[in-house]
Amino acid sequence: MVNYRHATEEQKELAMGARKILEKELLPKIAEYEEADGGLGQYPLDVHYKLAEAGYYAMNIPEEWGGLGFDIVTEGVIAEEMAKIDAGFTMGFHNCGSYFHFILDTKMSDEEKAKWAQRFLSGDARGSFCVTEAGAGSDAAAMRTTAVKDGDEWVINGTKCFISMAPVSNFFVVAAWTDKTKKVSEGVTFFLVEKERGVKIGKKENKMGLHLNETAEVIFEDVRVPADHVIGEEGKGFIISMQEISMEGRTLGATFALGIAQAALDYAIEYAKTRRQFGKRIIDQQGIGFKLADMQARTEACRSMIFEGLTCLRDGIPIGYLPNMIKMYTSDCTMQTTMDAVQVYGGYGYMKDYPVERLMRNAKIFQIFSGTNEIQHKNIMKAMAGRDPERK
Ligand SMILES: Cc1cc2nc3c(=O)[nH]c(=O)nc-3n(C[C@H](O)[C@H](O)[C@H](O)COP(=O)(O)OP(=O)(O)OC[C@H]3O[C@@H](n4cnc5c(N)ncnc54)[C@H](O)[C@@H]3O)c2cc1C
Repeated sequence: MVNYRHATEEQKELAMGARKILEKELLPKIAEYEEADGGLGQYPLDVHYKLAEAGYYAMNIPEEWGGLGFDIVTEGVIAEEMAKIDAGFTMGFHNCGSYFHFILDTKMSDEEKAKWAQRFLSGDARGSFCVTEAGAGSDAAAMRTTAVKDGDEWVINGTKCFISMAPVSNFFVVAAWTDKTKKVSEGVTFFLVEKERGVKIGKKENKMGLHLNETAEVIFEDVRVPADHVIGEEGKGFIISMQEISMEGRTLGATFALGIAQAALDYAIEYAKTRRQFGKRIIDQQGIGFKLADMQARTEACRSMIFEGLTCLRDGIPIGYLPNMIKMYTSDCTMQTTMDAVQVYGGYGYMKDYPVERLMRNAKIFQIFSGTNEIQHKNIMKAMAGRDPERK
């Protein structure tokens, strides 16, 4: 069931269509994918292609490039419904397919761009966004990756870590210093780098959760890209990065966490209605009933906030630092809601046989990536104090 009350009939149909594919193709095999590759997990490429065939991949590619041109609210409605099944898969599927706008921002010819659009629409183009390094997490400006101009090419050297979907990606959007004498907002540039140019995938991470979304190191050793692979303007990489992550990224990204929260709530209500202790259903025990009421209220509040943000983004209404609040509040609420769901299930909630255990493990990362919640506090505080002219 689609929970966003303002969703149009078309949006509901699209969301339920995607959910049905996942219920059939993914749900019965989630444990298998979670445990695959010696427990590191695996992104289900077969399910990826089933959804791509049905038109759900790269949904935001504009119609003039052969795509469906879905707006960000429609994407959000679909993403929440998919994330109820698995947020890691949904995040990978969505993010990998959402980077066509970076291709448009290169200096490649329209013919080249049209070929890329087709690769996206078939599900074949999968990208990763590479900023983080071992010594540069919250402080992204501390990155050491460099790109040096050599004739008509750039030569990239550096190692990125914790890169989502790197093992199944075939292109990388990479931040590198192009002028270290300048400050970060003028000295970092983004590049489009195809895997076949010599990109190596390093250690695949052994994570607490999000096992269907593979994470790995990405290594660039004298990787050469042509000058037309610069994304946007030279030296404006940090601004692109912040825009990418902070507006659409954080607002739409919150729908993945929201899907987890709603799924945890749905499972907990269902369980509390059937589990009996002391001669009655545990939902009728006030301690559990009140907990469920809090879970419900929090989830509704997050949804209102997220779709307010998405609607403004669709309509071009400035939203200042709302995405920071959406990211921070939704991830905190989702973490609490999944912990509460485990509590409602009692000992069974702690068992891998029951779905809430996976939901709780998957929830945690949303407080960490895309800018930790401490960094969100910092950004909100800065904007409130009037120290950030970009965010009012
Ligand atoms: C599963 C996963 C997937 C990821 N995917 C990607 C990806 O696709 N692409 C990418 O580029 N990166 C990715 N990341 C990296 C992620 O964005 C970083 O992990 C995150 O930004 C935090 O950096 P860090 O881990 O180095 O922590 P640190 O920056 O070292 O922070 C450690 C702690 O200190 C706190 N802290 C740091 N500075 C401050 C401050 N000024 N004030 C208050 N508290 C502070 C942090 O909030 C945190 O609690 C991913 C990470 C994970 C775990």
